Amino acid sequence: MSTKQTFDNWIDGGFVPPADGARMATTNPYTGDEWADVADDPAAVDLAVAAARRAFEDGPWAIMPARERARLMRELGAALSRDADELAQVETRDNGKIIRETTAQAKSLESYLDYFAGMTDKLTGQQLPSPSPNFLVYTERVAKGVIGAIIPWNSPLALLTWKLGPLLAAGCTAVIKPSDITPVTALMLAERAAEVGFPPGVINVVTGGASVGAAISAHPGIDKLTFTGGGPTAKHVARAAAENLTPAVLELGGKSPQILFSDADIEAATNGLLAGIFAASGQTCVAGSRAYIHEDIADDVIGRLVARAGELVLGDPSDVATEMGPAASDDQRDRILSMIAAAIDEGGTIAAGGVVDPELGGRFVRPTIITDVDNDCSIVREEVFGPVLAIMRFTDEDEVVKLANDSDYGLAAGVWTNDIRRGHRMARKLNVGTVWINTYRNVSYMAPFGGFKQSGYGKDNGLEAIDAFLQTKTVWVELEGATRDPFVIG
Ligand code: NAD
Repeated sequence: MSTKQTFDNWIDGGFVPPADGARMATTNPYTGDEWADVADDPAAVDLAVAAARRAFEDGPWAIMPARERARLMRELGAALSRDADELAQVETRDNGKIIRETTAQAKSLESYLDYFAGMTDKLTGQQLPSPSPNFLVYTERVAKGVIGAIIPWNSPLALLTWKLGPLLAAGCTAVIKPSDITPVTALMLAERAAEVGFPPGVINVVTGGASVGAAISAHPGIDKLTFTGGGPTAKHVARAAAENLTPAVLELGGKSPQILFSDADIEAATNGLLAGIFAASGQTCVAGSRAYIHEDIADDVIGRLVARAGELVLGDPSDVATEMGPAASDDQRDRILSMIAAAIDEGGTIAAGGVVDPELGGRFVRPTIITDVDNDCSIVREEVFGPVLAIMRFTDEDEVVKLANDSDYGLAAGVWTNDIRRGHRMARKLNVGTVWINTYRNVSYMAPFGGFKQSGYGKDNGLEAIDAFLQTKTVWVELEGATRDPFVIG
C-alpha cells in the first residue's frame, strides 16, 4: 500500500499549512484506502481572500496587458495537457470515475483555457449616444473582482476550468474550494499555474468541507460566487451570499428526460440512453435518468437496455477496459440504494440491477433499470446521482412534452427522432437549458451550459460565461467646459 500523502492549502503562490493543523482525509472509492490528508481550516479562507484581493488590486495581475494574461492562460492549458495522464489518475483515485472519462476531461482543459484566453483583448465597452453634444458617454467592462468558486466532486478539474477560463480572461482573481471528496487536482492545477508564471494570489485553493464552503459563501471580501453542486447546498450558498448581496452563478442538479419516438434509430437511441445514464455511473448533472419511450417500441428498447446493462464491465476505474466504476463514497452508495428501495415501495419493478454487485461489493451498484413508475414517484422526481434509469411509456407528443416538463429541474433533455420537424418542435417546447437531438451529453467551451428552474442560474462556457465576471461602468465626460445650474439634473 502506498504511503499517505499530505497536502496544504495553496495561498498567495505557495503551500500554506492549516493554522490549527486541522485536516481531513480523502479516500479512494475503489480500494477504500485513505490515500491523502488535506487541510480543512475555514480560517484559511480569510488568508486566501486577502491574497486574492491584493493580487486583484495591487499585484502585477492588476496591470497586466490582456495579451500577457492570455499567454499565461494558454501556458497553463499546455501544462495541464502535458500532465493530463497524471491528473486523470489522481482524479480517478479520488472519485472513482473511469480513467477513460477522466483522461478525456483532463485533455479537454486546454481547449477551455484557449477559448477564453482569446477573449482577453476583445472585452470592449461601447460609445453611447449622448443627450447633448457637450458630453461623451461610454461604457467600460471591468473585472468583477475576487471570485469564490465552489466545485463538486464528479468532474472536479473540468468544472473548475469551466469557471477559471472566463474569470481569468475577465481579469478576476479566485479563491477556489474543491469538493472534500476530490481536493487534490485543484492544488495540482494551482502549482502548474505558478510554474507558468501566474502571479501569487491570482489562483488560491482552500480545501476542506462544508465549513470552508460556508466561509467562502459568507465572506464580505468576495465579489461574486460561482457554485456548481447540489440544490440543497446551493440554497445555503445563496442565503449566505444574500447577507452581503454577493451575486452568484449556480449550476445545479437535474432529472433530465430522454425521449424516444417510434421513428428513432433504435440502436443509436439505445446507445444514447445507456451512455447518458451509466457512462459516469450516473454521477453527472446531466444524467439522462428518466426515459419516456413511445409505447410502440418500448418493449423492444427496454429489452435491449436490460441486456446491455447486464453486460457492462464494472471494475477498477483505473483500468481502461472498465465501463462503469463505483459510487464516489459510502454515503453516495447508501443514498442510491435507499432511492431504489423507495422506488420499489412506490410500485416500481427492477428490470436490471437494483443491488450492490455481488462480486465486487463495496460501492459498486449494478446498472439499474426500473419500470412501472410514473411522474409521481420519487425516483422520477428526485436526482439520484447514481446508475439508475427510470423508464416510462407514452403515446403522443403533447403528452410527453407535459411529462418531460413536469419537473422541478430544467437542466437538459435528449430527444430521439428521425423527424426533423418534430426534433426542432421538441427543442422549442422543452423547458431546459440544453436539448440534445439524436445525441446526448455533448459539451463544448463554445456552447453555454446551465439549467433552468431549480437547475440553477447563470451559464458556464460560451461567449456569455464571461459576463458573470465583468461589470459595466458608464463614464460621462463634459467636453465644452460649460457650467450648469447645479440643481438641474440632466
Ligand atoms: P454538493 O452540493 O454536496 O457540494 C458541492 C460543493 O459545495 C462541495 O465543494 C462541497 O464541499 C461544498 N459545500 C458543502 N456544503 C456547503 C455549504 N454549506 N456552503 C458552501 N459550500 C458547501 O454537491 P456534490 O455532491 O459535490 O456534487 C453533486 C451535485 O452537483 C449534483 O447535484 C449534481 O447534479 C451537481 N452538478 C451540477 C453540475 C452543473 O453544471 N449543473 C455539474 C456537476 C454536478
